[in-house]
Amino acid sequence: MAKFDKHIYPSVHKGIMRAALQLLALESHPAAERFSAADTEILISEAAAPDQLGDRHQGRGLHYYNAVRADGSALPLHPATGGYCNGKGAPAPSPLSVLDAEYRAALALRLAGKHAAAMKSLSRAVHMLADICCPPHCTSLTYFSLYGAAHKRYESRAAEIFWNCTPDALSEPDAAAEWAKQAAGKVPYPTYANLLSGSVPVSGKPWQPGRFAVICNALAESGAKHLDAVRGSDDAARIQSIRERLLLSITNAAALLAAFDRDLTEENPAIRRENHPYWLKSFNTAFVVSREPLYLHFADEGTVSLRTQDGRALAVGAFGRVLLTEPHTDLITQFRFGREPLLTLYPNGDQNRLLAQIRGQLHCIRRVSNMQGNLFLSQVSFALVNQPPEGAKYLY
Ligand SMILES: [Zn+2]
Ligand SMILES: [Zn+2]
Repeated sequence: MAKFDKHIYPSVHKGIMRAALQLLALESHPAAERFSAADTEILISEAAAPDQLGDRHQGRGLHYYNAVRADGSALPLHPATGGYCNGKGAPAPSPLSVLDAEYRAALALRLAGKHAAAMKSLSRAVHMLADICCPPHCTSLTYFSLYGAAHKRYESRAAEIFWNCTPDALSEPDAAAEWAKQAAGKVPYPTYANLLSGSVPVSGKPWQPGRFAVICNALAESGAKHLDAVRGSDDAARIQSIRERLLLSITNAAALLAAFDRDLTEENPAIRRENHPYWLKSFNTAFVVSREPLYLHFADEGTVSLRTQDGRALAVGAFGRVLLTEPHTDLITQFRFGREPLLTLYPNGDQNRLLAQIRGQLHCIRRVSNMQGNLFLSQVSFALVNQPPEGAKYLY
């Protein structure tokens, strides 16, 4: 077993983040200036967090984005997301839904002045991108399948190759710098344009998959071609595959970091221009709690409120009961980013009086329409959905 132990080395996710940051600096890309020493520290330290036990993103099968089965036969795209499903065959949460959600969260948090939380979300987005680039993660070779050992073998070899040194003599910055040098000139910057486009329901128009789905699908489909290198006995082929995919992870991570800088620098950031309707639905019962659509409003101080078009705001009456208030009532409930659970409801900005908590992420919810059933763990109380569910009972 020790033979396949990737944990004798530092996390490759951390190495990929380090190399991507160094790569931006090496290419003198303007985005390199965006990330302070403190930002860099958070980006690197958070990069492996989604794999840790008890993490909100950790879970069997959720870090898979399978374009093919373990025998190489193609898997279908999910009709609503336009993306592949996770290791449990569900469209969300998946590396795609988490990437999309965390990237939007990072932009919203940064615009709200919440630097540390923004860096954590951005790092998590990069983690998901790197998982998709890793062939066992897009070819159904889950840890819990017959091919768990092949998965572990591939990743433990990847750790050896990435760090390229005995663990005790290792300099993480030096190892990452080597990869940054090799990756120079290969960053797919243009691929990461219009990241917030698509994956939004528009009435009377067919569903358009998001830009992230297009990117992730291409990465997963190219990863599927590495199935033999993962499963087979040809070690030279495996090493070649690992080198290619590590470089791909680093260059795509750098492109996402560069896109983050661009999406913050533009005149009227796209994350602010989004004005899509949501309905709040209680999750464990049949109640739908908002009859009319609600719109997200981002505020500078880091809150997000939900309001109807005629100005009514969402408020919480009692734990588990959500209702709409008329304009100008004194109880205004706001949604706040950045603390576990990420989405909380509290009255008039009083954070000590939490009235309800939504476990899971606002940003996850918004990306996956008609699939609220797949989004959350069982203890979840509410979900935002893109359409009012049929046959619902209203609380007001
Ligand atoms: Zn992972
Ligand atoms: Zn893995």
